[in-house]
Amino acid sequence: MTDAPASANGSPPPLMLFNSLTRSLETFQPVHPGEARVYSCGPTVYNYPHIGNMRAYVFADVLGRTLSFKGYKLTHVINITDVGHLTDDADAGEDKLEKAAKERAQSIWDIARHYTEAYWADIRALGIRQPAEWSIATDYVPRMIDFARSIADKHCYELDSGLYFDVSTVADYGRLARAATDEGEGRIDPVAGKRHAADFAIWRKTPPGETRQMEWDSPWGRGAPGWHLECSVMSGALLGFPFDIHTGGIDHREIHHPNEIAQNQAYCCAGGLDVAANSGARLWMHNNFLVERSGKMSKSAGEFLRLGLLSDKGYHPLAYRLMCLQAHYRSELEFSWEGLGAALTRLKRLVMAAAVLHGADETTPTDRRLTDLLAKFDAAMSDDLNTPVALTLIEEAAAMKKVDAGQKRAALAAMDVVLGLDLLTIGRADLRVRPRAATIDEAGIEAILARRKEARAAKDFAASDALRDELIAAGVEVMDGDALGWDWRLGDQG
Ligand code: AMP
Ligand code: ZN
Repeated sequence: MTDAPASANGSPPPLMLFNSLTRSLETFQPVHPGEARVYSCGPTVYNYPHIGNMRAYVFADVLGRTLSFKGYKLTHVINITDVGHLTDDADAGEDKLEKAAKERAQSIWDIARHYTEAYWADIRALGIRQPAEWSIATDYVPRMIDFARSIADKHCYELDSGLYFDVSTVADYGRLARAATDEGEGRIDPVAGKRHAADFAIWRKTPPGETRQMEWDSPWGRGAPGWHLECSVMSGALLGFPFDIHTGGIDHREIHHPNEIAQNQAYCCAGGLDVAANSGARLWMHNNFLVERSGKMSKSAGEFLRLGLLSDKGYHPLAYRLMCLQAHYRSELEFSWEGLGAALTRLKRLVMAAAVLHGADETTPTDRRLTDLLAKFDAAMSDDLNTPVALTLIEEAAAMKKVDAGQKRAALAAMDVVLGLDLLTIGRADLRVRPRAATIDEAGIEAILARRKEARAAKDFAASDALRDELIAAGVEVMDGDALGWDWRLGDQG
């Protein structure tokens, strides 16, 4: 080993994480010794999540797994937004769920249930660990009203359309976004009577003569809570202010999280942002976006990239997880089918290396090469979750020759607990996802391949080629001489 081990004195390196609030790397110091309390903004369940949304939860999962790996007792909360998120992140437009319900003539509750289930299916498929709690926004409305009531006098004002938060009543509003109060005015639709462009609704009154499917009585009239209010209330109620880490996609750094912070400052009765207690969470962490070559990922324009579509085309969901890990969470990641294919090949190599160790009894690694790799792995993950490096380290361990199988298996397991690729459980057959449009099954493929092998052995190349064409017509790519021994793959049919 030429590289220096992770830490000169042999003690594990401290966990360094990037805090969006200070725009710097900070040593993780738990609010409650030995614990880590994390809140992640969850999906708005008016439609299926796209794979970009799922990147946010792969990130939160890797963060949670790393905190557990570093010895902290993790409490992770992810919310489900089933009310309050408008079609614009600011105060304009309709509630996304009300709109979807109207368009499809369905009940909001049915819509929310359907898309929550679909999101949970993606969570499971991606190997994302279950949080301690999925908090459902509509379960917290009475507590949202209490929260709003407690800050209304000092920080809010009422208009015909609702109760608004006056952002000038807290210090440093918008510091997370690095924007002054009135910046971004062009983006935010003006609401008649608002004192500042950045003021936001924390309670939206139902307009006279209208009824909404979801509405509650409040001191400010019948209506529904604002989206920002729900995250302040659920995170504070379940984790207690201040908690350790608040996560979300980078778009939340601009409006949603500055507004949550402003509410938390008001609620905690603290003015500035300098002390963690004042913003509600000690660290605010944001994952960058998954983008398409054509630009921002969208649920309406172009091909709607859902996890299910990837499976329909023959890509195992964990190949997408590995694709996410190949990039640092703070870097933009561009999606491409070629990139996904390469990630699948990388995953196959790892799975096959692990398969060789099947049945070996795990024993604590003492081999110096393995212990060095494990120390480097710890250092990489402790360096603001450097998964691209961590992946190369698990690959190095997987490729190691002349090493005790039990020790190697234990080292791979220790790293995979953090990366979550399920290497020791899934097998080669699991990764051969059958594309939806495929017209042949595995037994059929194997039968043709066996006939083809015979034809080749008999040097009947015409017959061999004909059988190969038959497979291609059925969507099977035959990979002669494939170094992985992965001799066929059901290709993209559609
Ligand atoms: P939403 O359901 O729109 O509230 O989004 C759920 C999560 O996905 C939020 O944390 C967003 O910030 C995040 N997100 C949205 N689009 C992307 C994307 N293209 N890449 C990564 N994260 C995203
Ligand atoms: Zn949120």
